[in-house]
Amino acid sequence: MKPIIESRLKAVRAIIAESTAKYARATDSVQLLAVSKTRSAKEIMEALEAGQHCFGESYLQEAINKIDQLRDEAIEWHFIGRVQSNKTRQITEKFDWVHSIDKLKHAQRLNDQRPDSMPPLNICLQINIDNQATKGGVEPDQAAELIEQISTLPRLKLRGVMTLPSPTASIDEQRLPFRRLRELRDQLATKELPLDTLSIGMSDDIPAAIAEGSTIVRVGTAIFGPRNY
Ligand SMILES: *Cc1c(COP(=O)(O)O)cnc(C)c1O
Repeated sequence: MKPIIESRLKAVRAIIAESTAKYARATDSVQLLAVSKTRSAKEIMEALEAGQHCFGESYLQEAINKIDQLRDEAIEWHFIGRVQSNKTRQITEKFDWVHSIDKLKHAQRLNDQRPDSMPPLNICLQINIDNQATKGGVEPDQAAELIEQISTLPRLKLRGVMTLPSPTASIDEQRLPFRRLRELRDQLATKELPLDTLSIGMSDDIPAAIAEGSTIVRVGTAIFGPRNY
């Protein structure tokens, strides 16, 4: 019997391949980020051995433990959780990407604390595209100003936008917030700042996200199984 993580990864890659074909996109235009929050270093190793090299984490302390344990492996680490001011130093010293920036203050701290030995930190702005009070993310009409401010920070590289919409059942409903995010990105992008990253799509809405232009899908459950908190 094949290890379960390897076969689930294959199934997720097949969904990505089918969706990119269906929407006339190149297969390699969508990157798979394996969301390994709550998962052990051993499970991450299993995915790594099955060819997965980008991992996303939401909870800083458990992430740091795993990053330290796996420091000899070729892994690209993405922080996708809530950023707090007192955690920015650890985030910027340990991660390659942060998808969840919604405040200038956090961006400034990540910039100022980024070690000189590391390349600029890749950043996505989290946008509150469906105006949910409880979720993080900058309001769409505030995004332009924040982008302008962040783009002056030399130790950050602003790559694009991310959103975390509330779950809906049908693919048409799932596509709506993703489309709004893509349209916002298209408005905000310039030649100097192409904002080529659309970080959209999770286990239950990968085809909808790819239909609307996703370049990074963040997938946890479909790779590692249901989470126990
Ligand atoms: C947990 C999480 C995911 C993965 O969700 P699944 O439904 O398990 O695929 C993606 N993005 C963010 C920001 C998350 O917190």
